[in-house]
Amino acid sequence: MSLLEPLPSSASASQLYAALVDALPDPILVVAGSRRDDLTGWRFILANAAARELLRLTADEGRLLSAVRDPAVLGAVDKALFDVADAESAYETTGAQSRSLRVRARPLGIGPDGLRLALLTYHDETEVRRVERTRVDFLANASHELRTPLASLSGFIETLRGHARDDPAAREKFLGIMQAQADRMARLIADLTSLSRIELDEHVPPRGVVDLGMVVREVVEAAAPLGAQRGVKLDWRSCGAPPTLVRGERDQIVQVVQNLLDNAIKYSPDGASVRVEMQGGLSELAAAAGHDGVPRLSLVAPDPSQETYVALRFMDLGPGIARQNLPRLSERFYRVDGQKSGARSGTGLGLAIVKHIMNRHRGGLVVASAEGEGSAFTVYFPMAGDPEGVVKAS
Ligand code: ADP
Repeated sequence: MSLLEPLPSSASASQLYAALVDALPDPILVVAGSRRDDLTGWRFILANAAARELLRLTADEGRLLSAVRDPAVLGAVDKALFDVADAESAYETTGAQSRSLRVRARPLGIGPDGLRLALLTYHDETEVRRVERTRVDFLANASHELRTPLASLSGFIETLRGHARDDPAAREKFLGIMQAQADRMARLIADLTSLSRIELDEHVPPRGVVDLGMVVREVVEAAAPLGAQRGVKLDWRSCGAPPTLVRGERDQIVQVVQNLLDNAIKYSPDGASVRVEMQGGLSELAAAAGHDGVPRLSLVAPDPSQETYVALRFMDLGPGIARQNLPRLSERFYRVDGQKSGARSGTGLGLAIVKHIMNRHRGGLVVASAEGEGSAFTVYFPMAGDPEGVVKAS
């Protein structure tokens, strides 16, 4: 059904009115009825284009029961028509893509032919519900993640007060575990705060120009002791060359590099090497292209309107990630099964943080990995054309 017929140049007021009603984005119906007990006689006498689409109507008037079958919505219509009072009701559509709708009924008075009239408006709340659910899930997950180390702390406090009170060796051991749990809680809180701050700014384009090579140098140097503890060698020879300037916010780019490098070290076997490679001047096509036969997935697609990119790749020889787990990597709190516990357990928020930062920077994030083959995470930053205002590493 055509939505908007072009109006004739000398449109009458009623043509203009009809076009306006049809152009409203929310579905509306005008319903008419003469008697409360004559439900089958109730009709809709106007349905705008959005209502015709939602209720799959082929005409803009007809029997109300052919358009509306939900008993609660019919109850609201009844109230508006015969109690002359506002009423509302919510319902879910069935089908492949279920939608949450709120329907409001308002009395419109008596029509010229003596029928009672009411206006039904539909408001799609699917997105609001989805956001609400995500928020509730997020809070539940965050509390669960915090509760686990907290429970462990409480348990050890009890043990230290009890049978380990006079056992210096046990005390030392338990205090070490408690320290690790407290550190974990601190990391979680830092990541949660960081994530909410990043999400707040996600739609504000970053300002500034950053020398990515300098950032890599700084982060790699700071991570060297962490690598050394486990004999993991960091090879970042290709990152030293000419300054590679990218558009972005320095602190956030540092966070991206830090998270990806931390993961590469964390998931590497003791004594293995982690390679960090940087390559500038890539086109969007090259940024999106695959290589070798390893499964790869774009977690953030680079913005096609950007001209050139710098790619920064972190490669490790760790356990790798099975293909079916790749799409979930950047979900908050997601951790691949079997990697959840142990000394190297993380917060599950690092890649979610990276994803949001790369979205904001209109860059890309691609993972290539297979079980037993190690992993390569690549971020693509739009190159800065203008070297003015370069943010130097401190
Ligand atoms: P975490 O803090 O748990 O590392 P991330 O969000 O950074 O959280 O990563 C999510 C999950 O993705 C990790 O828990 C891990 O299962 C998997 N992962 C991330 N990086 C790697 C990697 N380099 N090698 C293997 N698995 C990885």
